[in-house]
Amino acid sequence: MATYRNDHIRDLNSKLLLECLIQLGPVSRAALARQTGLTKATVSAIIAKLISDGLVTELGSADTSFGRKPILLSFQRQVGFFISIDLGSDCIRALAADFLGDTLLFKELLTPPPHLLISSLAALISSMQEAVFQTKLGLCGIALGIHGITFQNQIIFTPHYAMDPLPIAEELRQHFQVPVLVENEANLAVLGEYAFLAGSPKNIVDLSIHTGVGAGLLLDGKLYTGSSGRAGEFGHTIIYPNGKKCACGRRGCLEQYLSLPALLSDYKSRFDHFDIDYPQFCDNLRAQKKEAIDTVDAYLFHLALCINNIVQTYNPELIIITDSLLSDFPWLLEKLHSLCHYPSDNFDIRLSKLGRSSSLYGGIHQCSLFFLGIETLSFSGSADIPS
Ligand SMILES: [Zn+2]
Repeated sequence: MATYRNDHIRDLNSKLLLECLIQLGPVSRAALARQTGLTKATVSAIIAKLISDGLVTELGSADTSFGRKPILLSFQRQVGFFISIDLGSDCIRALAADFLGDTLLFKELLTPPPHLLISSLAALISSMQEAVFQTKLGLCGIALGIHGITFQNQIIFTPHYAMDPLPIAEELRQHFQVPVLVENEANLAVLGEYAFLAGSPKNIVDLSIHTGVGAGLLLDGKLYTGSSGRAGEFGHTIIYPNGKKCACGRRGCLEQYLSLPALLSDYKSRFDHFDIDYPQFCDNLRAQKKEAIDTVDAYLFHLALCINNIVQTYNPELIIITDSLLSDFPWLLEKLHSLCHYPSDNFDIRLSKLGRSSSLYGGIHQCSLFFLGIETLSFSGSADIPS
């Protein structure tokens, strides 16, 4: 079975030093020795290797009236870059970014039919490679965000687009000769959010509501995917036994009551607006029409139910929500808070600032960690692509 195994394993001293250097910014060898507790000889030997690898550079020194300043060392964040791709069933979104998440390029295209998918992805990646400025190491890794079940770097099941029989990762790995990470999109999303939070909090649930309900779970700073990659599928938790029929074959699943299709379906069935779409629904909500408000109240009731179950199950410090309705109407968040029951201390619910882009940055983050052979890394880049 193909796994995303790390061949860039560093020894503990090298890992500690590189993490410290990235975190502290321009820093001298002496300061690194003090900070890590390593001897100056060990620091010098490891730094020499990092410089020869192109990951670290010397910024030079300057003489002052107090004597010669030590040479400062800097992590070369743009020595290479990664490409992270969100493989949606309708749309493919691709981000090229440096080692610390600074955006270099963003592209978006309609998802081609399955027989053209791999060649289209190869062409997309090649075009981004050419467009990004030349770097010493060039493309260093690719991440694929999958809207479906993944496990051990393989696509297991994709409900909306038959990607699972396609050897996407293997073909791209052979074509570009770089590691290719395959991970569920919601899992990458929580990692992307975490990348910009400077390591705190460490217990986060990233709840994403669109055509379904999915969640990425970060527990004690580590991604939790369950025994077979299916953890976080909250859309298929049953809230009404014998309720509405779900595409999964069961009845009463949450996503039949909490998703954009469910919102519109509820609105249409309760109020006989058979041809209304989401923008028209939003117009009615802006106009404070009672029918729209009643539909939203039902939607928020089910969202609060979901949040309460998450809080009771995982006791997170933070729930980050990506939801079009709440993004379009932020005042609904206050209403949602009033429906939720959770301890008021050490817990927060907020809307995602990264939105749909969180999984792209999560892919970049995982590629960067893998390539560098380290375990912790905070992003400082500007997450400035369309969310
Ligand atoms: Zn279901």
